[in-house]
Amino acid sequence: MMPIKKITITRAEGPANLCGKPETFASFDEATRWLYRQSSTFPETGGYDKHDFTIVWEDERTYTGRLDCTRAGHRDNDLDLRAHVIQHASFYGGMLQYPIMGRMGYHDLIMNAEKRHPGTCESYRDLLVNYLFDPTPESIGPFCARCHIVLTADEQQHGSICTYCHADDAAALARTTPGATFVRLFIDGPDVEPDDHDREIAIERLTRWDRDPDPRIGDYVILSDGSYVRFAHIWDDVLQTTDCGSFYLGNGYVSMSGGLDPGVPPEQVVLTPEKKPGYFWFFHHNAPMGGGGVGLEAMCRVYTVQPLRE
Ligand SMILES: [Zn+2]
Repeated sequence: MMPIKKITITRAEGPANLCGKPETFASFDEATRWLYRQSSTFPETGGYDKHDFTIVWEDERTYTGRLDCTRAGHRDNDLDLRAHVIQHASFYGGMLQYPIMGRMGYHDLIMNAEKRHPGTCESYRDLLVNYLFDPTPESIGPFCARCHIVLTADEQQHGSICTYCHADDAAALARTTPGATFVRLFIDGPDVEPDDHDREIAIERLTRWDRDPDPRIGDYVILSDGSYVRFAHIWDDVLQTTDCGSFYLGNGYVSMSGGLDPGVPPEQVVLTPEKKPGYFWFFHHNAPMGGGGVGLEAMCRVYTVQPLRE
């Protein structure tokens, strides 16, 4: 493991006479012991005192961050500097088996971080293995070859990519497969990870939705200016549209909440061969009370508006 050259901690919040004075240490243990000695000056309740820190290793690799310190007796007091850095690096290194936001959300987050800064995961893993873990592990992973999250034992049996990257591939295929309506599930709010049961509910409901031969709430219509809007409310004499609403997929119906535009007369809309992905939501496990929502992408029909003949 790479030896530490210097750790600097500068208190940014708390009693004025203790702030803004950089303290230096030769090891994580020394830094952590000092933080524990300051514990009685940290907030007793509600809040924390920020501390900026910089770690420099012998090879000049540098890591900077911030600690949110509370008293020693508190849970998550953030006084163990090495644990703090390991936790942060494990998160961005894609190494969490049970991330708090669920694995689907974690897959999205890690993939986006990697898109913005290619090499992020690899860099954090290198930090963990060569600068933080003691002793140095022989190997870590394996990780998804696409999104970089650590694979489960089950996923390892099935190849080199995770469940969610497989689902992304299936969704890409569904978008171009004639007749396919279900595209994919996605996270609609915090605390809910869509699962196989949700998938069954979605497919069952979309199958019923598909039996309706007429323009449906959720389908698209191309207006005369070329814009795509979705049917939001079906009346006998007008199909009202929206360019923003939220579409709830019920059992045998779709309902929209959001703003309504005037819309178009039903006799003027004509079906086109085009299909376009649209978003819906429904309750996780069909449990409206406290279940939370699941997002759904499905292929919708596309209509166009024909001018009235004189
Ligand atoms: Zn993946």
